[in-house]
Amino acid sequence: MSIAPGKSQDANGFMSEVTSATTAVIQVQGLSYSYGEGRGVLSNVEFNVSEGERVGLVGPSGAGKSTLLMHLNGLLPDRLPVESDRASVVVSGVPIRKSSVAEVRRLVGFVFQDPDDQLFCPTVREDVGFGPLNLGLPRDEVFRRISESLELVGLGGFENRSTLQLSTGERKRVCLAGVLACRPEVLVLDEPFANLDPRARRALVDVLREFAGAQVIATHDLEFVVELCDRVIILDEGEIKADGPVRDVLSDEVLIRKHGLEVPWELRVRS
Ligand code: ADP
Repeated sequence: MSIAPGKSQDANGFMSEVTSATTAVIQVQGLSYSYGEGRGVLSNVEFNVSEGERVGLVGPSGAGKSTLLMHLNGLLPDRLPVESDRASVVVSGVPIRKSSVAEVRRLVGFVFQDPDDQLFCPTVREDVGFGPLNLGLPRDEVFRRISESLELVGLGGFENRSTLQLSTGERKRVCLAGVLACRPEVLVLDEPFANLDPRARRALVDVLREFAGAQVIATHDLEFVVELCDRVIILDEGEIKADGPVRDVLSDEVLIRKHGLEVPWELRVRS
């Protein structure tokens, strides 16, 4: 396979765009990590994400997907790099360090897999408004953003509802509304489709489609990766095993079975 100008070829032969430093919203370079003294969970992970690109992050359980996502807004490592250290992750040109982590968290909206890790206020209004209030926005702007984001996720009018009395799908959408209310440049989502019924999944896909910024979505749901993402990264044992266009990577049965995955139905019936 020849390599076109502006493209690169990974170890598995997949072509991917070489993203220049000016258009890369996320740059990850030489990222390795272990929890405490334990074995390595991430090993020399490197990739870029361009503006507006939606990247699916897939791989078996325990591959290191959540650990990787948590590095994208400085939730990890526990001890962030200081000025003299090399930063492994750069977001919108800002290297993630102790001194810049607050700024990076404004740029990167993070949606946890479990809404219980994210929701902590008694009402939907307070939860969705928490981020914008923390940004120091005036009260009327906070209220405007609350209703706007709730509308966006299909929960208009839910402001006074208790977050404890919502379905899992609704709770996930409240989390997303809280993140969207801060107007992030990048969305990072950990298993957003898990435990959702088909209608809630569809609603979430529609919201993610509407979001214009870059997205990194860790998921076991390869059907949605095919539907939603431009590109997919396979992570296994803390290493990137493939990185390329979704249809090329996910239709390679030998490759994806090797990493505990199944060819998505849509790619199976069409091949
Ligand atoms: P994935 O999201 O792909 O399922 P994780 O990033 O959650 O993978 O986990 C990767 C590895 O790190 C697993 O072996 C897991 O047991 C380990 N791990 C995750 N969180 C912790 C933690 N807080 N402390 C120690 N080990 C952890």
